[in-house]
Amino acid sequence: MDVEASGSIKDRLAHISDRIRSALHEVGRGEGGVRLVAASKSVTVDRLREAILAGVQIAGENRLQEALPKIDALKGERVTWHFIGQLQRRKVRTVVGVFELIHSVDSLELASEIDRRAADAGRRQKILLEINIGAEQSKAGFLVDEVEQELPRLAALNHVAIEGLMAVPPQARDPEQSRPHFRGLRELLERLRRQRLPGVSLTELSMGMSNDYVVAIQEGATLIRLGTAIFGGRRG
Ligand SMILES: *Cc1c(COP(=O)(O)O)cnc(C)c1O
Repeated sequence: MDVEASGSIKDRLAHISDRIRSALHEVGRGEGGVRLVAASKSVTVDRLREAILAGVQIAGENRLQEALPKIDALKGERVTWHFIGQLQRRKVRTVVGVFELIHSVDSLELASEIDRRAADAGRRQKILLEINIGAEQSKAGFLVDEVEQELPRLAALNHVAIEGLMAVPPQARDPEQSRPHFRGLRELLERLRRQRLPGVSLTELSMGMSNDYVVAIQEGATLIRLGTAIFGGRRG
């Protein structure tokens, strides 16, 4: 715990790797089943570069205006970019060209816009569906019932590849409080997979942040999104 509060980015990453490995081991999952996304909002280019040199392979950004100059500055580095923030429709065109995976697709309208822009660009954009797993009023994302109904329409979009689900459970001090939400997301993934829709792979679960990633891994996370645990505290 102390290592996460102080120490270098490299030390923190080493500590995180250990915790990932032991969480996988605890539940009998093989190594390599979890990819780390460094949530790099408000992190400078230099600190992000430091993280990349220490082994980070994926950077997750929330805001396009902030991400674009960083992506440009880090062009030579071996890192791929994921979009993890709320996405406005008018920004979709730019996002489709730049980000390998969009975690935060929260409506059929947004998915349709991504489909249209990806078609224009001659690409197939990988996406995750963001689920409002705690059914919180203030939060974006599909409700569970809603996504079960909408999946056929989403799957019919030929220029998006639906790779899985993402969620941010209700804020809680105790990571155990996130466990039922993580489990619920995994069960939802399994139910959606049973619809057996063509072109839908549904293998990824993007869940778990700095305070609850161990629990998320125990419940089946394949992508964890860590900011504070890697970079220390941030403003805003
Ligand atoms: C900031 C952010 C994270 C990382 O949060 P930490 O608590 O700092 O690990 C993960 N996911 C999303 C969508 C974020 O915006």
